[in-house]
Amino acid sequence: MASKFFAEVNRKRCVSCGACTRECPRGAIRVWKGRYSIVDPLLCIGCGKCKQTCPADCIELKLREGGA
Ligand code: SF4
Ligand code: SF4
Repeated sequence: MASKFFAEVNRKRCVSCGACTRECPRGAIRVWKGRYSIVDPLLCIGCGKCKQTCPADCIELKLREGGA
């Protein structure tokens, strides 16, 4: 089930290393055309593993709309 958080990538800071894609238990994050990562918010469970592993510290967990 989805949590009230989801991950969001700061595309300007992403260095396309792919570390986040290897950590994600849901396959919710991938590097788009080798340029930056994008998250599928429908798959993301907000676990934060991508954020913890990102060397560029460019992933934030955001509260979903309607989440409290
Ligand atoms: S927060 Fe968890 S589920 Fe969401 S993209 Fe990051 S590693 Fe994947
Ligand atoms: S770990 Fe961070 S820098 Fe590397 S691809 Fe993912 S979001 Fe980009």
